[in-house]
Amino acid sequence: MIPITAEIRAMIDKAASSLTVGEDEYTDPADGLLHCRACGHPRQAVVEAPFLNRVIFPRCACPCEVEKRQRREEARIRQERLERIKRRRSQGLQARYLYDYTFANDSGENPAMDKIRAYVEGWQTARERNVGLLLFGDVGTGKSFAAGCIANALLEQDIPVLMTNFSTILNRLCHIINIYVIAKNLDCRFIIKINRCSSKSYKSGIGK
Ligand SMILES: [Zn+2]
Repeated sequence: MIPITAEIRAMIDKAASSLTVGEDEYTDPADGLLHCRACGHPRQAVVEAPFLNRVIFPRCACPCEVEKRQRREEARIRQERLERIKRRRSQGLQARYLYDYTFANDSGENPAMDKIRAYVEGWQTARERNVGLLLFGDVGTGKSFAAGCIANALLEQDIPVLMTNFSTILNRLCHIINIYVIAKNLDCRFIIKINRCSSKSYKSGIGK
């Protein structure tokens, strides 16, 4: 901010008549500028506008306004993160019951869960080293629960996860291959996929 000379002070006082003073502001008689009632810092700056060739007094943020903006921005980022995690969870977990497969719901009876928890805690390193985790055991030994715990813990850290099974992957893969084979046999260059619909809506769609 440039020094306030008598000439500049006269300009400030003249400009003040067109200013709207907020409830949390006051005009300081010492410099004629708007100040914050909370922190006392100026909410107006005195700057030279090079292209206008004159001094102007634009509004500026006092420290408590800067802090308020930062808090709002942090809250916005937090909210966005929560919404992203919620969206990723609904996309990544194929069934609602998987939401309850969490370390918090672990009974603590399975000693292998300590290793699984350690894997999640060191996941960034495991990822960098391309280290996976193989869960095996008889039916009912908690493999799905353990996998769900990993999925939920990583999703909670804002990491995208898709929890699926081999039959779903194979079904989708077969579907893609089928379309590819049909297209290849017909020498198609472009594939249009139509979702299944009732014959009534299909017929009504043709006439339009
Ligand atoms: Zn303030």
